[in-house]
Amino acid sequence: MMGGHSRAGVDRAQVSMSPQLSLLRAGFASGGILSAVSSLELSGPASILQDLSGDDERWMAEALKVAMGNNGISNPNPVVGCVFVQNGTRVAEGATECWGARHAERVAIERSDSITRLAGCAAYVTLEPCAHKGRQPPCADLLATLGLQRCVVGVRDPNRLVNGAGIARLRAAGVEVTTGVLAPEIAAWHSPFLLRHLLGRTVFAGLWALSSESPAGASGDPPRRAIGQQARAYANWLRRKYDAVLVDSQTALSAGAEIAQGIRVGSSGRPPIVLVFDPDAQLLKARIKRKTDRQAARPTEAPFVFLVKRTSIEGLEPSLIADDQLVVVLPDCRDSGAAIAAALAHHDTTLRAGRPIESVLIESSSHLLMSFGRCGLLDIVHAFVDSAGTDDDILRSCSDIAFNNGEPLPLLAKIQLGKDCLLEFLAGIARPCCYAEPRLTGYGDDH
Ligand SMILES: [Zn+2]
Repeated sequence: MMGGHSRAGVDRAQVSMSPQLSLLRAGFASGGILSAVSSLELSGPASILQDLSGDDERWMAEALKVAMGNNGISNPNPVVGCVFVQNGTRVAEGATECWGARHAERVAIERSDSITRLAGCAAYVTLEPCAHKGRQPPCADLLATLGLQRCVVGVRDPNRLVNGAGIARLRAAGVEVTTGVLAPEIAAWHSPFLLRHLLGRTVFAGLWALSSESPAGASGDPPRRAIGQQARAYANWLRRKYDAVLVDSQTALSAGAEIAQGIRVGSSGRPPIVLVFDPDAQLLKARIKRKTDRQAARPTEAPFVFLVKRTSIEGLEPSLIADDQLVVVLPDCRDSGAAIAAALAHHDTTLRAGRPIESVLIESSSHLLMSFGRCGLLDIVHAFVDSAGTDDDILRSCSDIAFNNGEPLPLLAKIQLGKDCLLEFLAGIARPCCYAEPRLTGYGDDH
């Protein structure tokens, strides 16, 4: 399906693939198991998990559900789920805690009644247990001491400090290891983390609300289409899934409060990071003016990081840029997307934001979104399309956006959410076959 490397001016019809080529099984999306996103309140066919076969897939799906319970809490650490199972019964479970705190495996172990209870268990983990000492000791070493019968791994960790070493350590300890269970679905869930390591840079995802009648880029910038309740709930779920949300100044004014609130709810109080592309510093200056005039802050202004051009803040009194106004200066680049990526890669930005920003969800005008695609920086696309048209109409409406540097992004999932059709596209490099153990994946025969 990837069809090798396409030339520039590629045939746009390639995107118009038939829906059955969607890669994920029914009921799964990049946001995980849709029926487990409680705010979606799914019913009907979309709520049913189909095609799970055997205990390993069913328990891996359970581990994914456990991971989903910490959506928006642990990133930029991967949001891993771990379930210990004995004789078909769940013995313990855990998900990765906030950045720098315990990993899923340790949480599950420390939650179990006793550590001896875990001997002979099978451990189901969505991501390969880590083998390196970061802010936490290696989970592979911990698991290796338990007397496990098996360890079942969703996807291998492409972090060069792990990259199979966790699996090797378990096997060396006599634990039977199975990998690649539900690999496409688990890889989709972990895609921001996987892409971060596979690409070696910040990962960018675009969120679009399109109409099949006026596709993006067709003529100017179509207005943001109002999406239904379920699509809004899923958008909020996605906002938590990424380390930060990037908006342009117009979107910050119209929807900034809603976006910040959407991230905050369900994130255990962790402050959201909303990046505002404000090259001329208009919003920043307006905010400073209100502050000096002692006007109350507007709720829309909560936790913004302003991305501005240096020339736009020249002459601005440094003391006026208060502590809570994080200002990041953009380097000179022709494309906005490249300038933002370069600014975010800077160590200083991490310090200012309080935690690393390794994945970003972009909600903005088509103009800014497409700048990322032109620069080869658009790795994931989430699009809500009104479902008035035929399947072909719906896919065609995405034909101008699901492109990265002239390459079509492969379709990942197509799901009806209320009145909106959700289409997700994911860079091919995030497919499990690109980094899993080849003999065990059973996936990727089509390329
Ligand atoms: Zn770990």
